[in-house]
Parts: sequence; C-alpha cells; structure tokens
Amino acid sequence: MDTQNQKNNTVDPDALFEELVRKIRENTHNMDLGRIRAAYEMARMAHSGQKRKDGSPYVTHCIAAADISVDIGLDEESIIAALLHDVIEDTSLTHDDIAKQFGTAVADIVEGVTKLTRVQYTSKEDEQAENLRKMLLAMSKDIRVILIKIADRLHNMRTMAYQSPDKQKSKSLETMEIYAPIAHRLGMQRAKWELEDLSLQYLDPEGYKEITDNLTRRMPELERFMDSMKAKIQTRLEAEGVQCTIYCRIKHVYSIYRKMFAQKLDINGIFDLCAFRVIVDSIPDCYNVLGIIHDMFKPVPGRFKDYISTPKPNMYQSVHTTVIGSEGIPFEVQIRTWEMHYTAEYGVAAHWKYKMGASANTALRDGDETTFAWVRRLLESQQESDASDFFYNMKVDMFADEVFVFSPKGDVINLPAGATPIDFAYNIHSDIGNRMVGAKVNGRIVTYDYVLQNGDIVEIRTSKSAPGPSRDWLNTAKSNSARTKIKQWFKKERREENIIRGRAMLEDELRHNGLTLDDVSDDAVCSPMLKRFSFTCMDDMFAAIGYGGLTATRACNRLRDELKNQEPKRKTALDKVSEAAGRRESHAPKKEGKAVHGILVEGLSNCLVKFSRCCTPVPGDDIMGFITRGQGVSIHRRDCVNCQQLLSNPENNGRWVEVSWAGKITESYLTTIMISAKDRNGMVMDVATVLNSLNAKVHSLSARTTGLNFGVVSVTLEVKDAAELKYITNKLSSIPGVNNVTRNGM
Ligand code: MN
Repeated sequence: MDTQNQKNNTVDPDALFEELVRKIRENTHNMDLGRIRAAYEMARMAHSGQKRKDGSPYVTHCIAAADISVDIGLDEESIIAALLHDVIEDTSLTHDDIAKQFGTAVADIVEGVTKLTRVQYTSKEDEQAENLRKMLLAMSKDIRVILIKIADRLHNMRTMAYQSPDKQKSKSLETMEIYAPIAHRLGMQRAKWELEDLSLQYLDPEGYKEITDNLTRRMPELERFMDSMKAKIQTRLEAEGVQCTIYCRIKHVYSIYRKMFAQKLDINGIFDLCAFRVIVDSIPDCYNVLGIIHDMFKPVPGRFKDYISTPKPNMYQSVHTTVIGSEGIPFEVQIRTWEMHYTAEYGVAAHWKYKMGASANTALRDGDETTFAWVRRLLESQQESDASDFFYNMKVDMFADEVFVFSPKGDVINLPAGATPIDFAYNIHSDIGNRMVGAKVNGRIVTYDYVLQNGDIVEIRTSKSAPGPSRDWLNTAKSNSARTKIKQWFKKERREENIIRGRAMLEDELRHNGLTLDDVSDDAVCSPMLKRFSFTCMDDMFAAIGYGGLTATRACNRLRDELKNQEPKRKTALDKVSEAAGRRESHAPKKEGKAVHGILVEGLSNCLVKFSRCCTPVPGDDIMGFITRGQGVSIHRRDCVNCQQLLSNPENNGRWVEVSWAGKITESYLTTIMISAKDRNGMVMDVATVLNSLNAKVHSLSARTTGLNFGVVSVTLEVKDAAELKYITNKLSSIPGVNNVTRNGM
C-alpha cells in the first residue's frame, strides 16, 4: 500500500468540511449552516481541478482557513468569506457573484483579502516594515479582512514544507516581519506564537532544531516538574477556596530563541522554560492567587508585572510573576480572569467570540462603529509608551483618513485619503512635483486627478523642461504640504514672468479703453485698488493678473472707475477715456513703451531686459524676446540656435514677445566672435594688432587649438551696432591664415 499516495490523494474535502460543521455546531448555535454549506459548495466548484502543492484539492486550504477563523472566534460572514477567500484571485468568480449569493458584506471582505494578497513585498528596513503593517491595516477597512488574512497565512505557513526553499524563506520573513506583529497588535497571542515558530523553522532551521531537540530531550523531566508544580498549586488554591483552572505549557520556541539571543545564553542557560496559567473568575481572585503563589514560592525580584491595572496596548491583561520552584527551577505564572484569557488568546477577534455566544448575527449588525468604539475605548485607557503606536494604527483603520502607496523602489508613502499623483510627487520632493510631466499607477498612465488607492505603485515621470505646476493643481492636490509647495513655486519661480505677462495684459486692456499704465499709475488712482486686493505694490497686482488670480478686465474696470472718481483733478485722462469710447473699433495708436538698453518690448514699458549670452545681439540684429522665469525678457538673435530650439518647443508658446531696437541708441553692446584660423606662430598677436588698429574695445580674448594645426580665437568686444561689428569681422577675415569669423550662437 502506498501510504504517501493515500495521504495525498484521498484527502476528502467533504469529510473535512463536515468536521468543520461539527466544530461550528459545538461552538455556537447561532450560525446559518445552510449558508456556510452553500459557500463551501461555491468554493469547491470554483476551485475544482486546482491542487495545492502537497497534491490535495485546493478547497482544503479554504476549509482550513475557515477552520482557523472558527478557532479565532469569527462570525458567520467571516467564515463564509474565509471559505471564499481565494475565489476572486484564483477563479473566474467575481465580487458580484459573491454579493448576489451572500451579500455585499461577504463580497467586500473577500475582495479586501484579495487586495492584501496582491500587495507585493520586497525586503524591508524596519521602518518600512512598520509602514507595510500600517498599510495592510489601512487596507483592511473591515478588521475581519486582516483576521481572515492571518488565518490564510497561518494555514499557508503550516503547509510551507511543500514549497520551494526560496519561497519558504521569503514567506517566512514576511510572516515574521509583517503578519506576526500584526497578530500581536491585534492581541492574537495564539496566532502570533504559531506564526513565529513556523517562520523561525525556515529562517533559522538550525537554531530552531537546537531548541526543539533540547526540549524533546528534557521533556520527561520538564513534564514531571510541571505536573508536580501544578498539583502543588492546585491543592493549595483548593484549600484556600479559590475556583480556578490551571494550564501549564512549555514556552513557545521563538520566545526561547529570542531570550537566548537577548541574553547571549545557550539553551541550557534558559531555566524558565515552563509557564503556568491560573485562570479565575474575578479580578480580586487574581491578586488573591498572586499572594498565595508568592507565599508558596520565592518570587524572582523584578519579574512581577501587573498588566491588570496597566493593560498592554493590545488589550492584554494578566498578572505575571516568576518564582523559584521546588528544584530551584524558575517558572512563570500568569494569573487572569476568563475574560482576560479570551482577549489574550484571540485579541480583537474575542469581540465576536463573546457576541456570538450572546446573540446571533446582531454582533456585526450593530455596525463597525460599535466595534471600533469598543476597540478605541480599550485603547484610550492605555498608558504604555507604545500604546499610541497601536492606537495610531487602529485609527488609520477606523477613520480611513490616510492612504498608503508604494514608490517604484518599494518604499511605502503615507498620504491623506483622496491624495493624487500630485501629492505623491510633492511628498517625494518639491523638484519631483515641479518637474512632473506624467504619472503611472500600477504601470498604467493616469491623469493627475487619479485618486490613489492603498497598495498602488506610483511612478512619476519628470522632465527638466517641464512647464512646472499649473494653477488647477492646487485643487487637485489633497495634502496641505503639496499645496504649499505649489504656491511657493508660483510665488518664486513665476513671479517675474507673471509680472511681465500681467503688466502686458493690463496694458493691453487699458489700451482698448484708451488708457495707458501711466494714466493709472498715480497713487491716488491705484492705491485704493491695491488696498482692496491686499497688494503691496503694482508688481503684486501684475503678478496676480499674470497667473490668473485677477482678470485684466476686472483690474482695468476698477482702475478706470477710480480714475473717474478723481475726475476734477484728472480731466485730461478722462477726456481720453471718452475719446476712446468713440473710436473703440478704430485703430488705437500703438503706444510706444520706454526703451531699456535700447530695446522696446511690445506692449511693455520699463520691463527687465537681458541680452542672452548665447548670441549676444547688437543693434541691427533681427531679435526676439523670450519671457524667462525670474529674469525678465531675454533678447535673442532670431538666428540663434538656442532661440530656434526654444521656438520649436510648443510648451513655450505664449512666452514670446515682439521686441525691437529703439530708434536712437546711445549705449554700446558686448558681443562675442569666433575666429577660426590656422594654428601658426603669431596668429593671436596678429588678431590683437588688427583689433587695436580698429580701436575696438576688447573685453577678453582667448585662444585654443581645435585639432591638428587649427585653432579658434574667441574675442568679446564692445560695439555700437551690427554695422561696426561687420566692419571688424571683415578686417579680421583678411588676416593670413584666418578661415572664417563667426558670431556666437550660430
Ligand atoms: Mn489563501
């Protein structure tokens, strides 16, 4: 007979399920077994043909998860959801299919478990592991989702032997770092212990074996010891008239392992391997038992802990003490009431366990609020330092005011609920936000207003030539920090540009009304307007018009009205207004701005002007103006390579202004020319001599070789205009050995 084969292939899911039904019947009378049976049928059909790694039908895993859920004490909906927990992920069934037969609550739980299953982990730093735990809790809007996930993980860990060594390691690490701590947080001591011991088995097989071997070897001795201590305590407590139940056990492997590490001991140095639990009916009994134990055995100083008066953050309550037993062997005694016991074993889940006993389905019908209020009440009374941590996590769950997403590197980023890719980008760095040109979520391109979901992997595409944030990002962003950073950008990066643009817009609007900026720049006219909008100066107003905070029309109308108020003093300007009204459609004379550095900028006067260094234009050159960020209008030659590049980028549309040279020019201009020539002795000297003979004002001259026998002499000099420059370049071209003379920017 092939026993192995028999074991694997004759696992009868139906028989397993009947066992589960028997267990449910023993535990409670309040569950609708018909619904649970229907869920099993659905799971069995959906998973039919699928096998676990050990060869058993897949549905046995679903039954096992449901079985653990029963052990934990979960309710009917949870057990149904546990049976169906893998159908969305692994079969063709959908949320709707489940909802139709079992209601949306069950379907939502299954979907929740599916989402947790899809979260991918990479190896994590401590802080990241903590964020991941928070993410999972946040994703489990219904706490039953995480409880079923723990049941699922527990069964997967129990059957981990059939997986590949790699998978064993990675799943065990994940269990140790993520799920065991969550079980601990939720106060599920029993699940936590088992998860830890199973993980340790794969993470440090030798360490695990050392401990279990040792325990096995010492088991007869330990059992004798425990039996005799238990009998002693039992007899004495009975004599004192205390109703109690005493359990004793060997401590779980991982707790011994940790102790060995922390105290740098080998297993033989660990004495208190045994733990006793005395469970009584009331709190006074707890302290009564404590006194009796201390009277019977010598307590180890510093080991007494009262978690009844000061419960642990995960709601755990008990009195702990360590005493020296008859053979000089120390052992720990935990004293607690039954209520405390259930809470300790099942944590948050104990809530359902009690309620289930009391009244059928009403447990959850009264809603999550009650559930959470209950958890919260318990937690709010906590005083331990890490209580806030746990409370914080539960809060995330309860109020759902946060969302946790992944960066492409696997870091977890915490954002307010409703956050968008804009919030994400600015959370990483202001520069990422300011340079954002696109966003991907889970590999798909999304719009900026996409609402991030827990567990999303968010990727921001950036570009150095990004136009920067737009005004509507302020509405799209949910976090204050992102909004603040966007506003900062507008204030800083775009102020100059906005001022120039805003002034041009206002001048344009004024011109249509037959007015000029000069007409309204008078303090008496503009200061009421500035005050009305809390601007400190005209530039503020221009800036506001520039970025659209104030329309040019509105500003113009206000200024015109103010001008009318000043009527007696300002006849001439008003005359112009009425004149303009008469010839609105006709051609208003183009108002010439005041030249700056010999440059007239269309529609603007007195604006900041700068000559670009790439092409150093001089009067007579064909020029264009480019509105820069923060440095006014930059003047380029139309044939400048940079200028051509800027022109070809559609993002720059709207940033160009017409500029021209003023009629009369008094200044001279710096420009740079390049003389390519044969690299011969005396070449630089000859160039210098020619320039000197022409009385050219040379600012700098430098020479370098560009290859075999060739060199370039670069000269920066001052000229009045293009004609003078042309004359100089002609002269330089005639020097023997000079190939050509070019201007920069070509
Ligand atoms: Mn599963």
